[in-house]
Amino acid sequence: MTHKKETHEPGWNFDNSYSRLPNVLFSTVNLNLVSAPKLIVLNDSLAASLGLEAAALQGEECVAVLAGNQVPAGALPLAQAYAGHQFGNFTRLGDGRAMLISEHITPAGERFDIQLKGSGRTPYSRGGDGRASLGPMLREYIISEAMHALGIPTTRSLAVVTTGESIIREAELPGAILTRVAASHLRFGTFQYVANWGTVEELRALAEYAIERHYPEVEKDEQRYLSFFKGVMKRHASLIAKWQLVGFIHGVMNTDNMTISGETIDYGPCAFMDVYDPTTVFSSIDRQGRYSYENQLRIGGWNLARFAEALLPLFHENQEKAVEIAQEALYEYSRLYKQNWLAGMREKLGLFKEEAEDESLIEGLLSVMQKYRADFTNTFRALTFDKIGENVLDGKPEFVEWQKRWQERLGRQSESKEASHELMRNSNPAVIPRNHRVESALEAAVEFGDYKVMENLVAMLSKPYAHLSEQEAFCTIPGPGSKPYQTYCGT
Ligand code: AMP
Ligand code: MG
Repeated sequence: MTHKKETHEPGWNFDNSYSRLPNVLFSTVNLNLVSAPKLIVLNDSLAASLGLEAAALQGEECVAVLAGNQVPAGALPLAQAYAGHQFGNFTRLGDGRAMLISEHITPAGERFDIQLKGSGRTPYSRGGDGRASLGPMLREYIISEAMHALGIPTTRSLAVVTTGESIIREAELPGAILTRVAASHLRFGTFQYVANWGTVEELRALAEYAIERHYPEVEKDEQRYLSFFKGVMKRHASLIAKWQLVGFIHGVMNTDNMTISGETIDYGPCAFMDVYDPTTVFSSIDRQGRYSYENQLRIGGWNLARFAEALLPLFHENQEKAVEIAQEALYEYSRLYKQNWLAGMREKLGLFKEEAEDESLIEGLLSVMQKYRADFTNTFRALTFDKIGENVLDGKPEFVEWQKRWQERLGRQSESKEASHELMRNSNPAVIPRNHRVESALEAAVEFGDYKVMENLVAMLSKPYAHLSEQEAFCTIPGPGSKPYQTYCGT
C-alpha cells in the first residue's frame, strides 16, 4: 500500500520526548473545544523554516489543531508543571492556560516545542479560565517576531487564531490562541518545581534531559551539572546584555519566565524604552520597579542564584560544598554580562577593538542621554547617520564634548570610516516596536478587525537593520503630551 501524503498535512513531524520524563513534571490534558476557530495571522516564513507548508496550515483541520480542537496524529498534548519566584515570592505554578501539543522535528533535525497559549483550563489553572484575549496574543506575536529580527534569542509566534468566544476580563474581549514555538519550555522554575516536589533522581533526569536538548557539549564533562549551570548562566548574561542594547524591558522576570535555552519568553508586560531613563518601568503591577531597565542585570543574577539552589543536590552531596561550588560559579555572571554589554556597545559606537577607556566613553554618552531625555534608539541612529542635528542632544555642551572624545577614539583605530559606519548600521536598529505603534496596530485589529496596520508594522520590524526610507515613519516618538505608557500582564 502506498501512503500518499494528503494535501491538508502541513508536514508535522512529532515526537513527545517531554512525556517520557518523570510524571511529576506534567499532566496530560483534555481538549477544551472552542466554537468557531478562525486563523487570523500565520507566520509564513517561520512555517517555512520549520519545514511546514503555510498553505496547508490554513486548512480547516490544521486550524482546528491550532485552536486546540483537535489532536494531530503523533501528538500527545500535555501541560507542564513548574514553580517560580514571582516578584520574589516562591509559588507552585504550571501551564494554567497553555498546552504543549508536541515537539516538531524539522527536516534539519532541530526540535521545537509547539505550544498553544490560551487553550483552556488545565490541572494547573487554579482560579483562572485558561484563556487569553486577542490583544495580548497579537502583542506577543508582534514583539517576539521583532525580537527575533533584532537578533535576540526568543520564542517565536507561528499563528494566532480567534476562538469565536468571548472571555471576561475588565470587559468582554475576543478569545484567541497563540501558537508559540520554542527551543523548549524548560524554565528555571521547572527545576525549582522538581527540587521542591520531586526526588533527586527526578531532578537528575530533568537535568540530563536539558543537557541533551540544549547543552550537549557538556555531556562528557566530569562536573556536567556545573557545566550545564555555567552554560545557562552564559546564555543569560548574553541575553540580558542584548535586551539592554536595544532598550527592551521584559517586565516580569520571574524565575518561571526564564528559559533554560536562553530564549526570551513571556511577552506579557514587556515594552521598549523610548527616552533613555534607566529607572523605566512599564508594567502596572511592578510598583517597586523590581524589573526596571537598570535592574534587569541584577535580577538576572538573582534568578540564576535561585536556579543554582535548585541544582545544589547535583553539584555535590554535601550541601555546604554544593553552595560553595554554586557561589563560585555565580561570581562569573557580572563579568560575563559586562563583557557582552561592552562588546555590544562598542559595536553601536562603531568601535572595533577594545580600549581601557571605552566603558567611561559609553557611560559618558548614556549620562548625557539621560540628562536631556534623549530617545535611546533614535540617538544611536542619529550617531550612525551623522544626523545629530535632529536630536535633542544637538549643541548641548556635554554632548559636544563627548562627541569630540568619541571622534578621537574613532580616529585612533585603523579601520576605515566606512567600516565603522557599516558596523553601526548593523548594530543600531532603525525600528523597534514603539509602544504607540504597537497600540495602534492592536486597536485596528481588535476594535475594527483591520489587520493591515499590524501586517505593515510586522513587515517594518522584520528588517530592523535595513534602514529603509519607508521605515522612517516608524521611528517617530510619541508627542510630548502623551501619557506615560503602561503595560498589563496580558491574562
Ligand atoms: P504569566 O504571568 O503569564 O507568566 O503567568 C503566571 C502563571 O499564571 C502561569 O502559571 C500561567 O499559566 C497562569 N495564568 C495566567 N493567566 C491565566 C489564566 N487566564 N488562566 C489560568 N492560568 C493563568
Ligand atoms: Mg509566564
